[in-house]
Amino acid sequence: MEPKKADAAAIAEAVQLLRQGLLVAFPTETVYGLGADASNALAVQGIFAAKGRPADHPLIVHIAEAAMLDDWAVHVPTVARQLAARFWPGPLALVLRKRAAVPAVVTGGQETVALRVPGHPVALQLLHAFGGGIAAPSANRFCRISPTQAAHVAEELGAAVAMILDGGPCQVGVESTIVDLSGMRPRLLRPGHIGVAELEALLQQPLLVPESLDTDIRAPGMMAVHYAPKTQAVCCPSALLSGQVRALLDSGRRVGVLAYQHGLPDNANLHVVPMPASAEGYAQSLYASLRALDALQLTCIFVESPPQTEAWRAVNDRLGKATVPLAAV
Ligand code: AMP
Ligand code: MG
Repeated sequence: MEPKKADAAAIAEAVQLLRQGLLVAFPTETVYGLGADASNALAVQGIFAAKGRPADHPLIVHIAEAAMLDDWAVHVPTVARQLAARFWPGPLALVLRKRAAVPAVVTGGQETVALRVPGHPVALQLLHAFGGGIAAPSANRFCRISPTQAAHVAEELGAAVAMILDGGPCQVGVESTIVDLSGMRPRLLRPGHIGVAELEALLQQPLLVPESLDTDIRAPGMMAVHYAPKTQAVCCPSALLSGQVRALLDSGRRVGVLAYQHGLPDNANLHVVPMPASAEGYAQSLYASLRALDALQLTCIFVESPPQTEAWRAVNDRLGKATVPLAAV
């Protein structure tokens, strides 16, 4: 399945395919989504089959505008409307109590539903033309790296989708921030481009967040899910990087590096991808860079640890899932 330029005709065709219960991959500002009509349980099951995703992993329902919140959720708190007014369209998903009519397959059997108005013109045109909600996880096989270009979707899911809308590379590059508003206090479920400070400024109360920056050394076996390249990927502090790389090169191995600041020597067996210095730039190119290195069939990809500060929370969260720490190797 070749991607199609997302012009008006292609979007109209995509709407027809969604109405027939088929899968359409489309761009959002975060990553490419694998979309199905969220009110059609059979269509949504197709997403799980195409991705190889376990049925208890809930999907985010994408809607055209905040006014549609009430079509999917009940007991919508005022803060949800305030967050929606401030950040939608944008890279923020809100978890709310679901309406009874929301198919259980969408929510992984839970009583809550995740909702988002994406901030990409193609996604918005598609949602407005379709009229209903589009359930869409990232358009990759389960446990693989999320796609940030239409070509990534074609490589990985090409045969499983009725259409891939090409809207160019994704601007944000990592999945949406998810905030759970279904409980007593707002809780961060997934860090993303919209940061904790921005959310708290609006909420006017602390957001419950996972205690650490999620980059603590964890035994690989303890990680519930690993969104990783096929090549072994190791997160490595700058100070140890050149020694680690040298040791592998000396034993004739081919090595890749996602380099944050390190100047590494040129070598035929060494593939260095210099990463942007800002957290936003780094996030934008992270998945495409990992995919590019993964395609080279190297022995190992080293990821030079970026800063461990709040601005880097989303990047460090994703690196924690894509790599193992050096200590675990
Ligand atoms: P993806 O669509 O691949 O970006 O993943 C969607 C993620 O959204 C899931 O892995 C969950 O972490 C989260 N999510 C979606 N719906 C819910 C929900 N009802 N309750 C809690 N988390 C949810
Ligand atoms: Mg995903």
